[in-house]
Amino acid sequence: MPIKVLDPQVVSQIAAGEVVERPASVVKELVENSLDASSSQISIEVKGGGVSLLRVMDNGVGIPSGEVELAFSRYTTSKIGNLADLESITSLGFRGEALPSIVAVAQIDIVTCASGESVGTYLSLNDGVVISKRSQGRSRGTTITVRNLFRKVPARLKFLKSPATENSHIANVVGQYALAFPEVKFTLSIDGKVTLRTQGSGRLIDSVTGVYGLEIAHNMMEIGDGEWEGGAVLSPPKVTGMVGSPAISRSSRGYLSFFINRRWVSSRLLAWAVEEAYHGLLPLDKHPVAIINISLPPEQVDVNIHPAKAEVKFQNERHVFSAVQKAVRQALIESIPVPKIEAPAIAYGAPAEPRELWRASPESGDRFTSLPLAPTPEVSLPMLRVLGQLLSSYIVAEGPDGLYLIDQHAAHERVLFEKINEQRARQKIEVQGLLQPVTFEVNPQQNEVLKSHYGSLAEFGFSIEPFGDRTYLVRAVPALLYKKDWVEMVREVLDSLSGGDWSESIAISMACHSAVRAGQALTDDEMRELIRQLEQVALPHTCPHGRPTMIHLGSGQLIREFGRS
Ligand code: ADP
Ligand code: MG
Repeated sequence: MPIKVLDPQVVSQIAAGEVVERPASVVKELVENSLDASSSQISIEVKGGGVSLLRVMDNGVGIPSGEVELAFSRYTTSKIGNLADLESITSLGFRGEALPSIVAVAQIDIVTCASGESVGTYLSLNDGVVISKRSQGRSRGTTITVRNLFRKVPARLKFLKSPATENSHIANVVGQYALAFPEVKFTLSIDGKVTLRTQGSGRLIDSVTGVYGLEIAHNMMEIGDGEWEGGAVLSPPKVTGMVGSPAISRSSRGYLSFFINRRWVSSRLLAWAVEEAYHGLLPLDKHPVAIINISLPPEQVDVNIHPAKAEVKFQNERHVFSAVQKAVRQALIESIPVPKIEAPAIAYGAPAEPRELWRASPESGDRFTSLPLAPTPEVSLPMLRVLGQLLSSYIVAEGPDGLYLIDQHAAHERVLFEKINEQRARQKIEVQGLLQPVTFEVNPQQNEVLKSHYGSLAEFGFSIEPFGDRTYLVRAVPALLYKKDWVEMVREVLDSLSGGDWSESIAISMACHSAVRAGQALTDDEMRELIRQLEQVALPHTCPHGRPTMIHLGSGQLIREFGRS
């Protein structure tokens, strides 16, 4: 085919496709416009998965009647004026692409009334062409209704998922903006039912309650206001928000939200920074709940690198990474107390639920702190005196404030985990040669993983080499695992991994397989030694999988339980 100029309608549909991928993209653009218009209330109505109808109604500044048509032409915006403005964008929109893109793939009508105008304007467009315009009464603000999305773009329509899936994408978009703008009152109704509502109180915790519900809200901790390490305020970025206690971890990253200068973005870098901060506090396959607000001077971030503005680029990536990681870590360390035995039901029955540790304290309003029993966070371990062993699994010890029960396996795992990491960092893993090389076989899937990871296993003291089809020969193993079931350990690591952090998984698995088991009787000396070692580790309160290593029955609690007070 010869080169020719595309028909303008084709051009506009191609361009629209970049911005409007699915109904949720329309919602995102319209809500961003409402937010840019300084609205304090935004309602979103959805029918038929967003294909039949999407309506966004706000009480923002509105569009002056003389400019309404202009808003629907391409590259028209009230938000930036020149190239310099592009360097420091403070609004969510700036390209003037959203409304023309939507109008290229749907029917739209708008009713808007700008500040200072006594009557509003109604405009309706079909296929990008204005079909009617008149005055219409309306209080200040804008209502945009989008109907029959993609009806003229069957290729796009075909790729949409079920209405339920599209609805869930829409709910996610609205939820994210509700988290980013706690001062705005959001209402989302889907097929006539309100599915999300926030109060617009300005407090993040209220938005978390509206979006994620009470259980999560009760387990959130506030991130400091960018101050740490002796109160030194670091240069930007400033990191605020909330993070979830390890007790409410999730199996996907869907509860990790990032807002850069209040723009919702996705960022692998930032997700990684947060997960780094949870190191050792969460099981390997779990992800935290976190709402991270990063503010920095607009010129230090480029928001103009992605068609839907969903990704950004930082001038100083490492700086942002470490600011986020530090702020989250700080919030976590400050609020992770030794688990307490708080109620008889827990003291005498079920194992202590980590979740019990996080409660709202009435006097601190929306801040969630540990219970009054632990007014100052305990980070290091108190001196403990071993009293004996319980059920061949728990060490009973006395500390300065009452009784401690230590899970011997979890505690030993923590000790070994840190030891292994430390030895590896110094490349000083103790290795034990096998008297006779051992062969072992793996399944095809494990084989693929193993082929590319001898190196990591070697770093931990395994000497493994291929020995025919899916068979491997092992000549040496880490000394810690010498008499243990290391074959099982290697298989477990190969199975648990698909692209996760190798070194971390190997270290955890090694610690788990070499640690003393529950059910194993220990002598007093062994128990004392374990406690002594636990006192020296950096994170004594949880095992590497994130479970608690100990629970605490305080002397105050004993006094109360025995009715002595
Ligand atoms: P952009 O947001 O990039 O400026 P849009 O196509 O989304 O481009 O919107 C074009 C213009 O229409 C905006 O710059 C703004 O002036 C106006 N506008 C759109 N939606 C609203 C709204 N809800 N309230 C007030 N003005 C709006
Ligand atoms: Mg816009």
